[in-house]
Amino acid sequence: MDDKIISHSRALLQECDAVLIGAGSGLSTAAGLEYGGERFQRHFPDYIAKYGMTDMYSAGFYPFASLQDKWGFRSRQVKLNRYDAKVGDVYLKLLDLVRHKPYFIITTNVDAQFERAGFDKRNIFAVQGDYGKFQCTVPCHNKLYDNESQISAMAAQQADCQIPSELVPYCPNCGEPMMLHVRIDNTFVENSNWHAAKQGYSEFLGQFHNQKLLLLELGVGFNTPTIIRFPFEQFSRQFPHTHLIRLNKDDARSQDKLKAHNLLVEDDICQWLNKLAEI
Ligand SMILES: [Zn+2]
Repeated sequence: MDDKIISHSRALLQECDAVLIGAGSGLSTAAGLEYGGERFQRHFPDYIAKYGMTDMYSAGFYPFASLQDKWGFRSRQVKLNRYDAKVGDVYLKLLDLVRHKPYFIITTNVDAQFERAGFDKRNIFAVQGDYGKFQCTVPCHNKLYDNESQISAMAAQQADCQIPSELVPYCPNCGEPMMLHVRIDNTFVENSNWHAAKQGYSEFLGQFHNQKLLLLELGVGFNTPTIIRFPFEQFSRQFPHTHLIRLNKDDARSQDKLKAHNLLVEDDICQWLNKLAEI
């Protein structure tokens, strides 16, 4: 990575009044939470043999024949990525970079790595939910339920890629099946905490849009670009003293011309953070 990118990034980080982090799946991949390749093959050999699955992302859309089958896969995936995975080095290094400035995070990731790394929970808007919670599929009510003990039991007690029927989670209120609190469609529960986080995001933008706000966009691709990627480009154009640093391994280009001082870096997030951490 070019030293100029590092010195420019360092200057922007030092000069800014506040940092808005926008993070997508590329950041968790950089943290070691790969959804395919060797990691997938190591943890899901029975699922690969039974279903011909190729990676955790596409396997999430598999039309399982029963809830016992579905929770077999889901519980192992959630246990691996939400509970067993170590907090990624990239998240810890990122916290070191921004901890002395006002910061806010908007993320489409559902693995809770920001919270687990020690970022202030009040400054995180996880738009798409959290693997660590259940909600009703209907949903008949807005309550979310911590799922760690149930997920662990399902992951431990499965045989032939199925969990025992008595472990299938059902809504305590209406009796319909539960689901992970992850946005798939409009049944996603947006409870008071979700709305408070959304409000926090708006207030942060309101407070800093006329100041030196640094937009740090990390690993955000094109699955849901309207949540972070396109708005960040818009902020960069609209706000007078705002700069954007975008790191994306695959495609860092912008829709149209942005400010000359923006940094669009098509390179590795780990390398960027490691070099920035060097004194
Ligand atoms: Zn219900």
